[in-house]
Amino acid sequence: MELTVLGSSSAGNCYILQNEHEALIIECGVNFKEVTKALNFNLKKVAGCLISHEHGDHSKYINDFLNSAITVWTSSGTNKALIPKIKGFRLPLLLEAGIMTRIGNFKIIPFHMKHDCAEPYGFYINHPEMGNTLFATDTYYLPNKFAGLNHILIECNYRMDILMKNVEAGRIPALLLKRTQESHFEYENCKNALLANDLSGVRNIVLIHLSDSNSHAIDFKQGIENATGKPVHIAEKGLKLNFNKTPF
Ligand SMILES: [Zn+2]
Repeated sequence: MELTVLGSSSAGNCYILQNEHEALIIECGVNFKEVTKALNFNLKKVAGCLISHEHGDHSKYINDFLNSAITVWTSSGTNKALIPKIKGFRLPLLLEAGIMTRIGNFKIIPFHMKHDCAEPYGFYINHPEMGNTLFATDTYYLPNKFAGLNHILIECNYRMDILMKNVEAGRIPALLLKRTQESHFEYENCKNALLANDLSGVRNIVLIHLSDSNSHAIDFKQGIENATGKPVHIAEKGLKLNFNKTPF
């Protein structure tokens, strides 16, 4: 299994988990042409696409996905919010928090997130080749703990001191301070959420959705690496990582 990051910011999010035979896409916030290219133009192998919530940077290209006969999965609340934007006759299918859904050989258990939208989901994803992957973005809090993790994609959006400096300097409007605090994952909170889980089986921690102005990629990587003792990667566009359960 391989992870490909096609975008991980407010400009657009899309992640692909794929092997030779099948693929699971998470988020459709990146131009569909880039997605097809990353799949080596083999759309047949796509088992499905998960959308965490309706914000444009996660859902903008949903029509391209649906019109290419890719099955898109969301929460009921996200689905309702997206329906006015859907142009064709195909609609997303519904996932339910805490209930496992099989999509190809992937098994997905969604869970609730805390964000300023209808009904955001994070995903606990299992595949025999990959083991268990946690995907959590656009949340200010992670309410659950997760067993048996092998890989983690987690939002590490901003650090409080950097954000405060930007607000004090007038680079960020004070109004945005509250919005950020009530919708995105702060560095210390991200670190504590990671440390609350058993990380003994974890091979990769990927920090996703870093803010352009309120984050520091090098510090974040180093700090989380020091705290967890695990390899940490920053989800830059084009990043590819081996996501097998074991390295061999
Ligand atoms: Zn969002």
